[in-house]
Amino acid sequence: MHLLVCLSIVSLLAAGSSAGAVRTMRYTSRAADEAKAWQKDVRTRLQARLRIDDLLRERNRIALDPQRLSSVDQGSYTVEELEIRATPGRRIRVIVTLPATQKGPGPAVVCMGGHGSDWHSAYDANTVSKDAARAKADRIYGGFGTALAAKGYVTISTTVSQHEIRETGRLLMGERLWDLMRCVDYLESLPQVDKARIGCAGLSLGGEMAMWLGALDERVAATVSAGFLTKMDHMEQNHCLCWKFDGLRELVDFADIYALTAPRPLQCQNGLLEPPSQFYVPLARAAMEEVRAIYRDLARPENVVLDVHPEGHVIDLPGLLYFLDKHLQRGITVWLLNSCIVR
Ligand SMILES: [Zn+2]
Repeated sequence: MHLLVCLSIVSLLAAGSSAGAVRTMRYTSRAADEAKAWQKDVRTRLQARLRIDDLLRERNRIALDPQRLSSVDQGSYTVEELEIRATPGRRIRVIVTLPATQKGPGPAVVCMGGHGSDWHSAYDANTVSKDAARAKADRIYGGFGTALAAKGYVTISTTVSQHEIRETGRLLMGERLWDLMRCVDYLESLPQVDKARIGCAGLSLGGEMAMWLGALDERVAATVSAGFLTKMDHMEQNHCLCWKFDGLRELVDFADIYALTAPRPLQCQNGLLEPPSQFYVPLARAAMEEVRAIYRDLARPENVVLDVHPEGHVIDLPGLLYFLDKHLQRGITVWLLNSCIVR
């Protein structure tokens, strides 16, 4: 009897210590096939914790059912606003830009804004109408969606800045991510889009969502995650905790989530004017060192880049365009440009 009591106490203590464990699935350097097995395992665990595993299984049976709300000719591209079906019971609004002339399927980018943003934030006032306050708040994005549209990319954006859960039983981060996956579904349905050349880009919370989308949706061929790379211990302070959910810290840190993107191209951007309390460059450099390990193990060390730029919490637009052109555009001209331009 005493032995049983003692064993119970020991197991309780063990349970207590495991409940406090963090980053149990941390990536450490290993052989390529083991690295891929690690990615598959971590992806599966995260999908379950994000409560989107059922939607992923059902995805092909959930019709997109697009409904166009408006269409505006902007010369070299058209701007459409639509509603698409996110889940059987929920629809979302998206903005899509389509090039006016195109020889065949081309590249596309999912564009994401941060806290306080909406589905128009990645675009400047030449593309979408916005009031003065919104235009001022959106300056940090540098109109990167408009810049991509003008270069002939198909682009899509939806709102991910909400802090309320929209469907019972879901998770905030899971709903945000799922809506972005549905944006990829919609891009794949368009004849103008080359399915092998779909990228994603975002700043701040949008950079976080780019991390998640690149990590968990293997259809994403290139990711730009701006103003987000850091460590979870740091994000526990001075920041909205909407990034956190049950079971996340027990499994991974941000570097491990980014590691799920490998060997697909990944650019993180952090500005030198970010203060120590925010997305501080020395922390980003340390986290990036952890991300680099899996790119080396998968023999693509050149595919991961930390773009440290001289500004603050903003998109480095030239850096973003250079990286996405390099990995999503094709043709001798782009190859020559990429070979000749030194940044
Ligand atoms: Zn938040």
